[in-house]
Amino acid sequence: MLFQSKEVYNTFAAREAVFMSKEILKADLHVHSRFSPDSLAWVWQIEEERKRKGLDYIGITDHNTLTEAAKILKKDSGTPFVLGEEVLTSDTNSRGKKIEIIGMFLQEPIAPGQTIKQTIFQINAQRGVVVIPHPFDEWRHGAGARASRAIINDCLGGIPVAIEVFNARAGKNANFLAKMLWCELRNDGVLATAGSDAHRIAEIGRGYVGLPPFQTTRQFSAALAEAKACGEVNAWGTLYQRLLNRIELAMGKTFSDLRKELSPDFNYR
Ligand SMILES: [Zn+2]
Repeated sequence: MLFQSKEVYNTFAAREAVFMSKEILKADLHVHSRFSPDSLAWVWQIEEERKRKGLDYIGITDHNTLTEAAKILKKDSGTPFVLGEEVLTSDTNSRGKKIEIIGMFLQEPIAPGQTIKQTIFQINAQRGVVVIPHPFDEWRHGAGARASRAIINDCLGGIPVAIEVFNARAGKNANFLAKMLWCELRNDGVLATAGSDAHRIAEIGRGYVGLPPFQTTRQFSAALAEAKACGEVNAWGTLYQRLLNRIELAMGKTFSDLRKELSPDFNYR
């Protein structure tokens, strides 16, 4: 028994050593900009924050739209955005909430309101990667266990599919269950992602993956296969950020905008 666990440890240590010998970059793969109805973050502000926090990639995953501004910035200046969309499907979870699915590495927007199967079909038609965001945070449109397994079944054998094993806005339990589901299915080729689910600039980087560099979708999938999810749930911090988010949305401007108005010399950072 002791020998067995030592074996396991050695295998794990060997994997760690390989991981550590590679160039590892940081990617927050779940960020919302003001093209989502519940965020006021400009794409240029997200880019500023990415640089400030030393992140190497940002996944822009707006609700039901592929953000043109991010597409343009990526094309013109080579900004390391991964273009995605968090699509609301017509299928519901056990709480009666419509299930969200993220498509990453998309070229064109995908219309919301389609079934999960149709949405997956469209992500695959663009050679994108299917991500199941915060699967066990069902009040926030997570798929839940049954639908997550069904999505994975639909994808396996051809379509790259990932479980978001850490989402900074989800609770500890929800993240733990997501990680457990991934642990169970990782040997089938199911990938793992992580992200902040930031709706405010301050939230960017609260969740991320460490992974090798990538450029193409294929390389992205290969990098995700080696990714390590990082981040720590801070329930009070999340509550505070969500409260500020609500107030800002009600005002129609951020506190930074307000300070800028009151004192024109104010610099955003
Ligand atoms: Zn989101």
